[in-house]
Amino acid sequence: MQIIKSIAQMQDIAQQLNNQGKSIGFVPTMGFLHAGHESLLAQSRVDNPISILSIFVNPTQFNQASDFEGYPIDLEKDLVLAKKNQVDYVFIPDKTEIYVDAYRYQVQENQHSMLLEGEHRPGHFTGVLTVVLKLLNIVRPQKLYLGKKDYQQYRLIQDMVSAFFMPIEVIGCETLREIDGLAMSSRNVRLNTEERALAPVLYDVLATSKTAYEAQEKLIKYDFIKVEYVTDLESRRYAAVWLGQTRLIDNVEL
Ligand code: AMP
Repeated sequence: MQIIKSIAQMQDIAQQLNNQGKSIGFVPTMGFLHAGHESLLAQSRVDNPISILSIFVNPTQFNQASDFEGYPIDLEKDLVLAKKNQVDYVFIPDKTEIYVDAYRYQVQENQHSMLLEGEHRPGHFTGVLTVVLKLLNIVRPQKLYLGKKDYQQYRLIQDMVSAFFMPIEVIGCETLREIDGLAMSSRNVRLNTEERALAPVLYDVLATSKTAYEAQEKLIKYDFIKVEYVTDLESRRYAAVWLGQTRLIDNVEL
């Protein structure tokens, strides 16, 4: 497993692999890897001779400085997990190199990105789409693996790839959950014991309520949960809630 920090070096490697006709599977992440990320890596391993994992905590997609600054990081553990999952290259770019243009150029979607997460986190999806476009241009994968945990993000990236005629297959992987139903997330580590005990009600309520309204009514009964939104859209139910200082999102198919 090779660790690549320079963009030029990653581009050279991608070029060589493409010349050799080796299909590249790409899993972009913000690190602090868990079993959800591992499931994406496992799928890439099955589908491709080469798997590339990127770890980049993307500053432009955070709409709160404190969230960015407090984002959990454990590179040593990430590298152990990457190796265990037979990743070929770990790409860890530097933010000044990624944003060589000082973020003057941005990818903005003007419809779906304004809803749900986009409505509550202004600029979030512009940050996501911009960094993903940059990463795809560097890594040049044939297949891109994304989690349905972030379903709106998955669909927006899929649409961007199609809008810009990029020859990439976007594969949505199912959400991995803890035994009690809580969707795995790097941010779960921020939950204290009481919050962690309460957190599974989010998935439970989303999955068992007849309407978004009913789900919202059930969630607001919990003193420690602050509901940001519960919305049904195109046969999927999406929600974001705060548990103390931690924001959780989840979605279920209806
Ligand atoms: P992140 O590091 O949170 O930016 O996530 C990187 C990728 O892993 C994204 O495509 C996420 O949707 C995906 N992912 C995160 N959590 C899960 C999960 N619990 N199950 C499946 N995929 C996930």
